[in-house]
Amino acid sequence: MTIGNIATKVPTAGRLFDIEQVRADFPILQQHVHGKPLVYLDNAATAQKPRQVIESIGHYYQWDNANIHRAVHQLSERATQAYEAARNKVQRFINAAQREEIVFVRGTTEAINLVAQSFGRNRLQAGDEILLSHMEHHSNIVPWQLLCEQTGAVLKVVPINDAGELLLDEYEKLLSPRTRLVTMVHASNALGTISPVREIIELAHAQGVPVLLDGAQAVPHMPVDVQELDCDFYAFSAHKMVGPTGIGVLYGKREWLEAMPPYQGGGDMILSVSFDKTLYNDPPYKFEAGTPHIAGAIGLGAAVDYLEALGMENVAIYEQELSAYAAEVLAQIPGLRFIGTAQEKVGVLSFALEGVHPHDIGTILDHEGIAIRTGHHCAQPVMDRFGVPATARASFALYNTKAEVDALAAGIRRVRELLG
Ligand code: PLP
Repeated sequence: MTIGNIATKVPTAGRLFDIEQVRADFPILQQHVHGKPLVYLDNAATAQKPRQVIESIGHYYQWDNANIHRAVHQLSERATQAYEAARNKVQRFINAAQREEIVFVRGTTEAINLVAQSFGRNRLQAGDEILLSHMEHHSNIVPWQLLCEQTGAVLKVVPINDAGELLLDEYEKLLSPRTRLVTMVHASNALGTISPVREIIELAHAQGVPVLLDGAQAVPHMPVDVQELDCDFYAFSAHKMVGPTGIGVLYGKREWLEAMPPYQGGGDMILSVSFDKTLYNDPPYKFEAGTPHIAGAIGLGAAVDYLEALGMENVAIYEQELSAYAAEVLAQIPGLRFIGTAQEKVGVLSFALEGVHPHDIGTILDHEGIAIRTGHHCAQPVMDRFGVPATARASFALYNTKAEVDALAAGIRRVRELLG
């Protein structure tokens, strides 16, 4: 079986994991909303947190809270140790070659802005080209538009087909001697499409062009191995992978990080400061100016522990099965049209219901205790491509169940009864 170009081992026997036990780890899922059991299907926006993550953050604030890297006292040593241990966990999780290649940032958005400014600003000139796809999240569009305004570089957009799949031959044609960077979504938040990242990277590298992948929707749902992918940069957010908000990761190959100037200046990113000459610290610290989100990094480390205990291959298989079931069940609802029908998808189902505004779908489902997202999903070019102002989107995580899918289908049928 392959998921997102990554071969997965199908477990030899037994269940992937105990779903009831998994659900019991997520306190928030135990509640009722509008008198109905909560069915949380807005995971592409943010995922819920298991108590192991919540407790790791509480433990830090209760016992170890201190600033890191700066003092010899016991609390600071413990905080530093926990923060740096989280870096090791992330390194292992995405199989980076070195811990120095893991930069803690606020999230995917900041990771991409960091690369745009630090990699792009000095390197790009008027007429240089940056390649991205038509299905990027705004956070993988706007930082590049800012860079283009600053340097005179231009964006080239690789089109997608009616299923929401990247057109690889168009991509190949757009790669030119002026291409300086390819920046692509690994898995689309609006369509669920998994990009053909291996081919994207191979084709770019054949021309000496580095590649950034926006992994915000991939890392929570499949095993990601940055060495196997051979990407140059990889960005993701903890909050979408059962970790806390306000923390995320920029992976960058050591040679790039060494060559790039700091993104922000301040404490911790320096070796020495004088008014004549300031020496910068080595990566990753060069890119971590000021007091970082220590508790967030620790929570991210706990999220990695949690996902590794389940096994990302198991998570991928479980979610693939669940979303295949959901696609089958929802397809039977009259007037429902999927937007994004790619062969390779993560568990994101975007849909329209004939004659009903997506916002009304979301509101009625909320009254049934079902949380989905409606809107443009920060991907307005995708909405334009499919000629819709917005979609309704159900997105799945490792704690969702077929019973919840059935509740969603019943809820959508109710919407049709009321408004269809
Ligand atoms: N890229 C994709 C594909 C996303 O889905 C998101 C968030 O929804 C982002 C980037 C931005 O992530 P964050 O807001 O955590 O920085």
